[in-house]
Amino acid sequence: MKVSEHLRRAKAPLLSFEILPPLKGKDIRSIYAGIDPLMEFKPSFINVTYHREEVIYKERGHGLLQKIRVRKRPGTIGICATIKAKYDIDTVPHLICGGFSREETEDALIEMNFLGIDNVLALRGDATKGESQFIPERDGHAHAVDMVKQIAALNRGQYLHEEEEEAAPTDLCIGAACYPEKHPEALNMGTDIAYLKQKVDAGAEYLVTQMIFDNAKYFAFVERCRQEGITVPIIPGLKPLTNLRHIQFIPKTFHVDLPDDLAKALVACRSDADVRKVGVEWTTTQSRELKERGAPCLHFYTMGRSEAVREVLQAVW
Ligand code: FAD
Repeated sequence: MKVSEHLRRAKAPLLSFEILPPLKGKDIRSIYAGIDPLMEFKPSFINVTYHREEVIYKERGHGLLQKIRVRKRPGTIGICATIKAKYDIDTVPHLICGGFSREETEDALIEMNFLGIDNVLALRGDATKGESQFIPERDGHAHAVDMVKQIAALNRGQYLHEEEEEAAPTDLCIGAACYPEKHPEALNMGTDIAYLKQKVDAGAEYLVTQMIFDNAKYFAFVERCRQEGITVPIIPGLKPLTNLRHIQFIPKTFHVDLPDDLAKALVACRSDADVRKVGVEWTTTQSRELKERGAPCLHFYTMGRSEAVREVLQAVW
């Protein structure tokens, strides 16, 4: 079923999880081990991220370095199909513009359609390591809105090259990303929301936020989006911090500010266990408020740490 349909039918806030494909060479069972402890909370859908290829350099002797492109976490669409079949749950593969031509994007969408997947999260992706800005593939999309347009066209039976009368339309529900603290490249919140509206006008039926640690920012963002005419559901993304490394990594990587009270509590932490306690308590409080104030769905970024998400849900779900 489509995420939009889940949201339309919901009588109370829904629950969803986001997982990463295993690293190349690891077993699919590591995915099940992450999902199993969360299934009792009856999530409505599970997202699987997409990871662009990275450039690595290998020593080849005599001072020579070989440049190699490696995709470290392949398999997003296959994992979605497998999870859907194994758990009888809807899945949402992420698809990015980076590294994809329009033909390759179309092929990926056709694959999802053949596998009975009803949803896709349309994203631009980030610049690859070593690039100062995002560079689209030749004949690829520069912004997520262009991918949203391509998916919406495919849903009308408009393939890139096939004649329309011969082509069966797909029926994919399109989601897109949004940023309550502004996307780091955006000039300001105004332009970011204006571009966000373009994604919605092009066919995005719901939005998922970057991880938030301050609910007030989420509520203010939703209000501003409503003022700007964005009416689709906006799902808050949540992440319990679980280790000392997160304290630097999360704000730097995801361009989010930690609220004062959380920052003070984290500064006092001396071990991963301390951070995890603070992180789980913080996300629990956030989740309670979001649930009480009617957020459409709570979306948990598990990032391979489903035990911490489980602790939060045991307290609030
Ligand atoms: P866009 O909507 O294209 O926006 C990017 C920037 O360009 C913004 O600053 C925006 O204001 C601006 N902009 C948008 N449209 C235009 C336009 N037409 N003209 C000029 N400027 C414009 N990354 C991955 O690699 N894999 C994942 O699986 C993944 N999952 C994610 C899930 C969520 C819920 C979120 C919030 C992010 C995820 N990301 C993922 C990260 C995302 O790819 C990056 O944040 C990326 O930098 C922006 O993606 P976007 O889809 O928001 O891009």
